[in-house]
Amino acid sequence: MVRTVISDIDEKNLGLTYVHDHLIVRKAEYNSLPARILLDDVVKTLEEVRRFKKFGGQTIVDVQPFGAGRDIEALKYISEESGVKIIASTGLHKLDFYRENFWSLKAEVDEITEVFIDEIVNGAYAFDEKDPFKKRTNIKAGIIKIATDNNGLTDYYQKIFKAAAKAHRQTGVSIITHTELSTFGTDQAAFLIDNGVEPNSIIISHMDKRLNIENIIKLAKIGVFLEFDCIARYKYHGDNEEILIIKRMVEEGFVDRIVMGMDSTRERFLSYGGNCGLTYIIEKFIPKMKMLGIKEKEIKKILIYNPESALRIRRIGSEL
Ligand SMILES: [Zn+2]
Repeated sequence: MVRTVISDIDEKNLGLTYVHDHLIVRKAEYNSLPARILLDDVVKTLEEVRRFKKFGGQTIVDVQPFGAGRDIEALKYISEESGVKIIASTGLHKLDFYRENFWSLKAEVDEITEVFIDEIVNGAYAFDEKDPFKKRTNIKAGIIKIATDNNGLTDYYQKIFKAAAKAHRQTGVSIITHTELSTFGTDQAAFLIDNGVEPNSIIISHMDKRLNIENIIKLAKIGVFLEFDCIARYKYHGDNEEILIIKRMVEEGFVDRIVMGMDSTRERFLSYGGNCGLTYIIEKFIPKMKMLGIKEKEIKKILIYNPESALRIRRIGSEL
């Protein structure tokens, strides 16, 4: 089972899935998101998502968590209008994205855990410009998004990771993390596993920003999922270098650990005047993978079967 913004469905129905993406990201008084990542036009996003559907895309995980400009009502509307399945996130993003006095800084582990569980079980908070706790919805989150920054697992982040692990143990939903330039991924995985999260329910994102094959293999061996989205991001590396790493993963027997997304911003969506579009993986990257020798069945694993496994609520917790 997976929990989408519309209903719970069998994971076998997910189809081609982007596991880490952004559809709506809004500015609020309590967040400090850079303008270049904002996606605040529902009409434009819907146009982009419809195009994704036209090219065979079926599911998107929106990994904007609590208080970081997430708009779960807009996500539900976009899902209904486009026919694309959307999984929304609870959780908390890196500190940079919130103002200094944000609620989570002073809150205790249990209080944070409660918010995460509540958003998964009963419904997430609506977007509000002034107060992230102002309005409830009955639209449920289906994954927990957490993050570290350049400082790694500081006391603050340990508190957030503990809350996420607890919420996972009580609901069974997966945890997806943000790593800053591929750093501290192994620490994140180890900490979550120590706190009772199954490796199969952990997705470590952006491990392809810096292509360090040793780090990547080390994480894959732990049994977590690695999410790759440094695709068409040429300031880091070219697509071919990305594909060579994927090939190495296939050769080493770790293709079942890879999932993908575009990690979109307004600089990517064509409907916002961006450069490559949400469909880039389908239109351009899959043909490149095939040309460089990655087989159809491996591509299907990465984009269809691995997401089924990574997003599945595999052990339904007492709260769910
Ligand atoms: Zn992201």
